[in-house]
Amino acid sequence: MTETGSTESVDAIVIGAGFSGIYMVHRLRTLGLTVQGFEAGDGVGGTWFWNRYPGARCDVISMEYAYTFSPELIEEWDWTERYPSQPEILRYLNFAADRLDVKPHFRFKTRVVSAWFDDATDQWVTTTDSGAVTRSKYLVTAVGCLSTSMTPDFPGLSEYAGEVYHTADWPEGGVDFSGKRVGVIGTGSSGVQVIPLVAEQAAHLTVFQRTPAFSLACGNRQLTDDEVRAFKNNIDDHKARSYASGTGQYTDTLEESALDHTPEQRQAIYEERWGRHRAIDLIACYPDLFANRDANETIAEFFRGKIRETITDPELAERLSPRTYPLGAKRITLDTNYYQTYNRDDVDLVSLREQPLEMFTATGIRTGGVDHELDAVVLATGFDAITGPLLNMDIRGRGGRSLQDKWADGPTTYLGIAVDEFPNMFMLTGPGSPNVLTNVVCAIEQHVEWTGDFIADIERRGTSCVEPTAEAARTWTDDAADLAKDTLYPEGESWYTGVNIPGKPQVIMSYVGGLDVYRQTCDEVAADGYRGFVSA
Ligand code: NAP
Repeated sequence: MTETGSTESVDAIVIGAGFSGIYMVHRLRTLGLTVQGFEAGDGVGGTWFWNRYPGARCDVISMEYAYTFSPELIEEWDWTERYPSQPEILRYLNFAADRLDVKPHFRFKTRVVSAWFDDATDQWVTTTDSGAVTRSKYLVTAVGCLSTSMTPDFPGLSEYAGEVYHTADWPEGGVDFSGKRVGVIGTGSSGVQVIPLVAEQAAHLTVFQRTPAFSLACGNRQLTDDEVRAFKNNIDDHKARSYASGTGQYTDTLEESALDHTPEQRQAIYEERWGRHRAIDLIACYPDLFANRDANETIAEFFRGKIRETITDPELAERLSPRTYPLGAKRITLDTNYYQTYNRDDVDLVSLREQPLEMFTATGIRTGGVDHELDAVVLATGFDAITGPLLNMDIRGRGGRSLQDKWADGPTTYLGIAVDEFPNMFMLTGPGSPNVLTNVVCAIEQHVEWTGDFIADIERRGTSCVEPTAEAARTWTDDAADLAKDTLYPEGESWYTGVNIPGKPQVIMSYVGGLDVYRQTCDEVAADGYRGFVSA
């Protein structure tokens, strides 16, 4: 390993300044450690820094999508909308980072290109795109799960003369589509949010849909002062209920199977829950909705009924209706006026299942032999999720072992936090942890706190290195895969399993056993002297 120029040394490096990086830097600073954070964006926010497309909004209720560890942060911040917009989340994260005074510990507009473990000194050697090299005892990746955008390899894309934007890398100053013919490819969470707003501005919008989404109207509204106050007053109860839930979001799941109720009973229950505008209240309404295909079909059909109620053209309604996968196997999207947008005369839907996307031409997109002339195209095509942001960097552990090679057949981790042969490396919301199957802020707080406690323990013991045994990592990974075997996720053919990236190993990259069970396991591991880890 050659290092040119000056090398700085700190106790810990944290990569990323989103929810997890901000809290991790704070936690490590509280332990008295020196920390260097790196962030590719020109400010804090992580994925919320880049995903600034019109309509970007979180699918978790604002007051629940916030840190709970600090009474000051809870008390001093007031959310204004039930579902927070991207600008409001970014303001919140700036507020939190300022209040915790972590910004001075980050170097912004700086991308980590490699992090190599130096066996001779038991240190990580991290290099950024500016060539700066930093040595550290600990390497913490806080890179997020949905932060590496994915642009499909569309034939002809580079010859297309119009404008091209990706929702996950939106220009800071915004885009003016007035008077333009615009195409949007993709109808996942980003697509269903951006489509209504582009339609309002553009002269004409063509949506290119490969697989329809199950979308829930979010019913967004301003929060009242009383609601905000009541939430703050009940924060301990909120925290306890989040901890006790499998997803970090609690709901009142009924006891009986969906199939034990009559169609009329189910309809009444689904209607009431549709009015709550919260996905978890629907998908976790009955205990077997995501375990039993027949039960799932009852709620899938309820969602399709909502599409038929909204779309005036029955053929169009059918084209927008998901039929090929169970509800929840792809993430349920949350929208404002998504289906209503298709009733506009200046909006067309092209189903790529009927008319496959052949190529981009110089002036637009050709599908099924038909040319669509377009001035601008929005790619709402998603992310190389969970492992993408980690494998984008050249991370090498003991003996130069590369993480890319180690994970060639899929990620192996212990608790989704650590990897054998990669000492003192901790991954926040890494593969094999509950990550995206939760209200991710809850998962982040648990990971930061557990990792912080572990590092405090390592420092107390004067240990130089810890890493999981290969056996612990193999067992954790195999057990997590066994748990996931009988779920419906693979039927969704989505980023949950890596199917959206050609050549990516197809595995469920999340621990499906629930955040409550996971938290308990992590606590037991810690109480048992960090069982599964060895020290050097
Ligand atoms: P996504 O869910 O992966 O959706 C990508 C869309 O692009 C899908 O409709 C996909 O079709 C389509 N697509 C991909 N490759 C294509 C190709 N080669 N040709 C045609 N169509 C193609 O990505 P996303 O919408 O950005 O959302 C990803 C995740 O980010 C969400 O599930 C959510 O967890 C998070 N997110 C959350 C929010 C929120 O909180 N409200 C907002 C945005 C994103 P197929 O389905 O056929 O693959």
